[in-house]
Amino acid sequence: MVMSIHTSYMSPVPFDRCGGHPALDFVNTLDHRFDPERRTELLGDYAALLRFAREAGLLDPSRQRVLADEVAVEAGARALRSAIELREAMASVLYAQVGGRDPASADLDRLGRCFQEAERPENLRWVRAEGGAPARLEWQWRPEQLRAPALPVGLLAQAASELMLSDALARVRHCEADTCRWLFLDTSKNHTRRWCNMKVCGNRAKARRFQQRRAN
Ligand SMILES: [Zn+2]
Repeated sequence: MVMSIHTSYMSPVPFDRCGGHPALDFVNTLDHRFDPERRTELLGDYAALLRFAREAGLLDPSRQRVLADEVAVEAGARALRSAIELREAMASVLYAQVGGRDPASADLDRLGRCFQEAERPENLRWVRAEGGAPARLEWQWRPEQLRAPALPVGLLAQAASELMLSDALARVRHCEADTCRWLFLDTSKNHTRRWCNMKVCGNRAKARRFQQRRAN
């Protein structure tokens, strides 16, 4: 896909996380994805990628600061490219799924490669039961991995593969507003959520229906 992209250099407003899952909010960071005139890249640089990973709850603030201060410009740019590659591979598969189509095998290959190339946590950690929470196992990053420029890419790939290889994949939807089509996880009781954000896209659609009724 050839993309013309406007980059947003505005002062950081928090990322919109109405997707309800870090992986879906991540795909939504290419705003107006299907409108070449208005398409806007919200991940303009490595700092924005770090900020997204932190706001999505994947990266803790101290780690964000360390990476922002220590990662060289070129390494950061490389990590950002990998993140965008991962995001676009995810988007091609997810938009096929929400559109009721089978993903193209080339897109699956591309996504599989992104998952395999991403850093992964290497150690298993046993977390003891505490304060009513049951004991559990969790993957843990090695200390040297935590300094890697591509850590945010690894964290995003991990979140994405957890979602996309689970039953929750079937509950991924896209916003019904044609100009939006952001992805979200439909956790509503009857699986009837239609908008990324009722206040934004839902109200706009309601206003449009109201105008149509008045015109008739
Ligand atoms: Zn929307």
